[in-house]
Amino acid sequence: MLMPTGGGKSLCYQIPALAREGTGVVISPLIALMQDQVDALRALGVNAGFLNSTQNPDERRLTEAEFLEGRLDLLYLAPERLNLDSTRQLLDRGHVALFAIDEAHCVSQWGHDFRPDYLALSELHERWPDVPRIALTATATRATHAEISSRLGLDDALHHVASFDRPNIQYRIEPKNEPRKQLLQLLRGEHDGDAGIVYCLSRKSVEETAELLVRNGIDAVPYHAGLDSGTRERHQARFLREDGLVVVATIAFGMGIDKPDVRFVAHLDLPKSVEGYYQETGRAGRDGLPSTAWLAYGLQDVMQQRKMIQSSEGDQAHRRTLATHLDAMLALCETVECRRVQLLAYFGQDGEPCGNCDTCLAPPESWDGTVPAQKLLSTVVRLKRERNQKFGAGQIIDILRGKTTTKITQYRHDELSVFGVGSDLGDTEWRGVIRQLLAAGLLAVEGEYGTLVTTPASDEVLYQGRTVRLRTEPKRATRAAAAKDKKPASRAADLPDEAVPTFEHLRAWRSNTAKDQASPPT
Ligand code: ZN
Repeated sequence: MLMPTGGGKSLCYQIPALAREGTGVVISPLIALMQDQVDALRALGVNAGFLNSTQNPDERRLTEAEFLEGRLDLLYLAPERLNLDSTRQLLDRGHVALFAIDEAHCVSQWGHDFRPDYLALSELHERWPDVPRIALTATATRATHAEISSRLGLDDALHHVASFDRPNIQYRIEPKNEPRKQLLQLLRGEHDGDAGIVYCLSRKSVEETAELLVRNGIDAVPYHAGLDSGTRERHQARFLREDGLVVVATIAFGMGIDKPDVRFVAHLDLPKSVEGYYQETGRAGRDGLPSTAWLAYGLQDVMQQRKMIQSSEGDQAHRRTLATHLDAMLALCETVECRRVQLLAYFGQDGEPCGNCDTCLAPPESWDGTVPAQKLLSTVVRLKRERNQKFGAGQIIDILRGKTTTKITQYRHDELSVFGVGSDLGDTEWRGVIRQLLAAGLLAVEGEYGTLVTTPASDEVLYQGRTVRLRTEPKRATRAAAAKDKKPASRAADLPDEAVPTFEHLRAWRSNTAKDQASPPT
């Protein structure tokens, strides 16, 4: 079952589990959410339980007894539990109605979220050949889909692939100029008082960004693996139960979180793969109301991720997989076509230009960047050939623009024949050229200092007449213009003005009632 977030995946095993005799066993890696999932089901009258490492022995024994007595409709299990002999024997002694393998993409070794514990799930059909199995995921390319099927022995199964389109999410990707300012503009200008998630790559930037938002009067909390589990749980619970809280998080946050009214997902750093990006942005707008997926990305992101891949552990094949993931993400960032069409194509589905993404709303202009590309590449080549030197983006741009800095004088780079040949473009434009050449594989980064080097494809531009089309760097802060007059979606854009107080009243009531019942306001 391939279905986007919010499409109703869980029902596909919950209802069969209720209808069949015995207990539906759900394999899920989302240990932190099992308690919430089970609570929500119990509130609906479904007898659900879970077994994972967060329980004490008494709680575990109680759940095991309920299972053996046939009193459980659903049992949630972490995959590492299933690998224990004791758990397997327990399942043998009870009555299993079905196995549901949630987040099934975790079994794919070449996917973006591989978990070794999932490999053992391939034994399910050998040990329990008569128990029906269903595998579910919200994110899989055709290749991942095929790998899930073969690893879990589901080649002959019925395959249901729903449309991955999330039409209410507006996808926007813009160059990172002043990220903090850009983020504040998005939150204040379009999402005042809305619940949302801001993703950052490092713990440090999570902390700093959360502080920045709080200083600017926005209700925000941090979430990352460096915080103690009590704080993390508290912040997650607040996010689920309160209105209008912003969580600033590393990607560790959000998997399986069921909050319908997340109005925006913002990325301050480039995600490592399209799968990851799609999964994270998919947490916005599960209620079907207008929502925003916003990403700011710049040259530094490309350099940093290329460097991380080079220094990553694992063999050549592993690095190649990472690079392929990154290339697809960069292609999405640099496209001049509809973002949605590109996203759907990545997951093997067709789409029409959507009218609800930045490239549709304000089609980017492109320009012939062949000559600047040649100037830049030949600077890199000359430094190597004439001086046996390699430099990062900053120095190369200074050479092209003919700036006399200390470092330029020190290395006598003002004596190079290319010195000043690119003075017609500004700093931002040149960074845009480098970023796009890196994204297109016409340039590469190397080593700890992120020095620029040419690739085999660079020769095609330098010597074989290959032309280079580049996106025009947008002027700052143009993007928000389109959304300026939009009412915040949380106030239900369709309501007449006189109905708004009643709506807000009801919303406050819902929020308080949810708090009293200690459950998310759904
Ligand atoms: Zn579009």
